[in-house]
Amino acid sequence: MDSRRMGRDLDKVLLSAEQIDQRLGEMAAAIDADYAGRELLLVGVLKGAVMVMADLSRKLSLDARMDWMAVSSYGSGTKSSGVVRIIKDLDTDLTGRHVLIVEDIVDSGLTLSWLVANLRSRGPASVEIAALLRKPSEAKVHVDVRYCGFDIPGEFVVGYGLDYDERYRSLPFVGTLAPHVYA
Ligand code: 5GP
Repeated sequence: MDSRRMGRDLDKVLLSAEQIDQRLGEMAAAIDADYAGRELLLVGVLKGAVMVMADLSRKLSLDARMDWMAVSSYGSGTKSSGVVRIIKDLDTDLTGRHVLIVEDIVDSGLTLSWLVANLRSRGPASVEIAALLRKPSEAKVHVDVRYCGFDIPGEFVVGYGLDYDERYRSLPFVGTLAPHVYA
């Protein structure tokens, strides 16, 4: 993306690349300790969790398997409704597996609470969540995020995998958009 245009589109940087990198290191250390001696399956939720999955998994000492799901949450604009449709399902049979869902952000929690229930119904040994970001002020349902990167304010954010209309995913940091972008 043209860097001058991107500069105009952004309002502020919320989390720098360095902050994200450091926090993912701490999360990976906790995951390594908790899953030592067990086989772990990381389930990434496309497309937003691509960056978190790539960076978090490379910080793990344990050799985790990886699989991906794509879900679509019906809703208007930037809000989800909790009515979720599977666009791409897992290739892996979850029976007896320790599953760690890797997510970019927990907003209302509706998508993840549906996903956890869906994966639990497949007979895994355990299902936990790792999410880089969480917006406590927006929570509509309680979701137990075992590994959370950062609690952030209830603003719409982009970057580090998160998009607005499929743009800004490749930014190495997390930031907010200038109001004119939404107009
Ligand atoms: P929830 O079901 O928790 O309300 O929403 C989860 C999904 O909504 C996330 O996986 C993400 O795709 C999208 N989402 C929620 N908040 C934001 C945000 O601030 N920025 C972006 N780009 N997507 C968001």
